[in-house]
Amino acid sequence: MSNQRQRALDVVQNRTTDRVIAPSDKISDFFAADVFDTNKMRSALAPETFSKVQNAINKGKKIDVETANQIASAVKTWALSKGITHYTHWFQPLTGSTAEKHDSFFNAQKGVEILKGSALIQQEPDASSFPNGGIRSTFEARGYTAWDPSSPIFIWGRTLCIPTVFVSYTGEALDYKTPLLKASDAINKTATKVCQLFDRNVNGMSISLGCEQEYFVIDRALYNARPDLVMAGRTVFGHHPARGQQLDDHYFGSIPSRVYNYMKDFEIECLKLGIPVSTRHNEVAPSQFEVAPLFEDINIATDHNSLMMDVMDRVAERHSLKVLFHEKPFAGLNGSGKHNNWSLITSTGVNVFQPSSSAKENLQFLTFLVNTIKAIHDNSGLLRASIASAGNDHRLGANEAPPAIMSVFLGSQLTAVLDALENNGDLQVDKGDNMYMKLGIDKIPEIILDNTDRNRTSPFAFTGNKFEFRAVGSDQNVAEPMTVLNLIVAKQLKEFYDMVSQRIDKGEDKKIAIVNELRGYIKASKAIRFEGDGYSQDWEDEAEKRGLPNVKQSARALDAYVTDSAKSLFQDFNVMSALELEARNEIQHENYIMKLQIEARLISELGMTQVVPAALRYQTKLMANGTGLAEFGLDNSHVKTILEKVNGHINTIQTQIVDMNKERGQVNKIEDTRERAIAYSERIKGKYFDAIRVAVDKLELLLDDEDWPLLKYREMLFLR
Ligand code: ADP
Ligand code: MG
Repeated sequence: MSNQRQRALDVVQNRTTDRVIAPSDKISDFFAADVFDTNKMRSALAPETFSKVQNAINKGKKIDVETANQIASAVKTWALSKGITHYTHWFQPLTGSTAEKHDSFFNAQKGVEILKGSALIQQEPDASSFPNGGIRSTFEARGYTAWDPSSPIFIWGRTLCIPTVFVSYTGEALDYKTPLLKASDAINKTATKVCQLFDRNVNGMSISLGCEQEYFVIDRALYNARPDLVMAGRTVFGHHPARGQQLDDHYFGSIPSRVYNYMKDFEIECLKLGIPVSTRHNEVAPSQFEVAPLFEDINIATDHNSLMMDVMDRVAERHSLKVLFHEKPFAGLNGSGKHNNWSLITSTGVNVFQPSSSAKENLQFLTFLVNTIKAIHDNSGLLRASIASAGNDHRLGANEAPPAIMSVFLGSQLTAVLDALENNGDLQVDKGDNMYMKLGIDKIPEIILDNTDRNRTSPFAFTGNKFEFRAVGSDQNVAEPMTVLNLIVAKQLKEFYDMVSQRIDKGEDKKIAIVNELRGYIKASKAIRFEGDGYSQDWEDEAEKRGLPNVKQSARALDAYVTDSAKSLFQDFNVMSALELEARNEIQHENYIMKLQIEARLISELGMTQVVPAALRYQTKLMANGTGLAEFGLDNSHVKTILEKVNGHINTIQTQIVDMNKERGQVNKIEDTRERAIAYSERIKGKYFDAIRVAVDKLELLLDDEDWPLLKYREMLFLR
């Protein structure tokens, strides 16, 4: 057997696992121990300073230099008491991971540990190496990071981390967080106004997000022995195992002990960081798992998701494991997603997506439900663009993940409610009538919550008291899809509010005005509602009839960000300028190209230097055998048959790789980034990747196992 493969397997045979012990049986003893949270802040700061920070957090008020100095000093004292010597501004650049640059508290000139307020509030990382889509070179300005007091400061590893935004000196966002904060602000404003139609006491909204994170775990030695996993995060070759997920025995089964210990370990680290991880279970594919924290404020949940991925990655090392966040690390097995559970909660504590026994609240519920559906209908292209990536392309529409067609699932009961509302005809409500009863919304059954008629195939599903955006990729920073969702719903709610106000001005009763407006939306957005099997070909055909977009390639889906209407939408709500959108588009296309370039190189290298040589060696063996058989006058036709097959596949691999590399040379010369990205998708990936893979995977089934150079799926995927 190939040395590399055998060595890796030998290492795995000798693995042991240590039981992980929590710091205390009670989670509350260590939850948020490494976070400078509100409680720690309150006890460390003078009451006046504390209330200034709270104002900054809750009302977005500016923090003055004196206050900043006091906070910085308190944070530093806390960090030093925990043996921490360095701090960093922690942010989420457009590279997709998190970034930090560590500075020491120690000031050599003064000989003491210092953290100045100014260093807390602002820093200038050497930003030239972060993607900026040409913004900085255009403006010849540098970027800076600025403290986001709404996300708490924490200690991770040996470093104090200060969550920040990352912007250019001319104000353009260079990160994921800035647009999210702005879009959250936008929906906060418009949703509050709409809520005030129902309850004057509402003075703000909180936007909630709970992310279910899917991932694969494999042994680190095996990971290291697969160059494609190391370089591209996914296997470019590999025949699926004899036993895959068809027995469905992995899902919710018992968790292998090595993985169990790993999970427990990273969960403890997450809990210390205040990340409220709560559920863990196996997923559908072998070696695939899921973790889901409880929902939190969207900004914090987004930071926590990035941080959690980082924690999971680092803790895996301790267990000689590797966590894979790629959307499709193994062909033929389910990919990984990240369900984004999203809802809006009023300052008075009402979840507007919670059906209720109170008729009045149900009208509010329907208002938000229908407006959200309308927003998805009108902006499905943007929503699709927000989940575009090279990795997610392998997953969307792969008949095991939500398709690239955006649609909304409501469940039979809500569908009936909306149908009734739509078909009610023009409503006549006389004095003394119970209008809610007339509308049939007096008791939208509370059982909707318990009703598990859930549709796992829908990209955007209503699940009881929240919407769940399921098409988000497992490796993605959720800020991007959440920015788009917040923004499109913000816009829709504003339109709704304006239209209802106009009706009221014309003398319509408020409730009637609301219902009439909603009824129009229900009709107008009907095409986006789909209750059937989203994985089926029938749905693709049906969606086409309905005129719903089905953009399978991310390189094209991204166009939705830079249309005139998208630009004005982002601009109108002050989320991003046209320039920022263009810059991001450029970055995403570049990113897409780089990913496919790396994969093409890997396919070419592994194909020519590992697979083909192994096949040639096997052919030599076969030829010797065949000649030997002939010498003895024995039938050697079976040897010839195998030889021919192997030869055919070698031929395919060799010629296809040569052709692919030639074509890559041409594609690389295309000036326009978007055009180049599309060419990579169609002319390189579309034309060659699968063709080469099929031949390689066939060889895997023909060659002597001893000769096969790459770890097989069955060896990687069944962790013991
Ligand atoms: P599923 O059945 O899809 O696994 P769960 O009920 O377990 O769904 O919840 C999944 C995620 O949804 C969790 O992170 C949970 O905290 C979150 N969640 C629950 N209610 C809400 C809500 N109102 N808003 C946002 N997220 C929520
Ligand atoms: Mg879910």
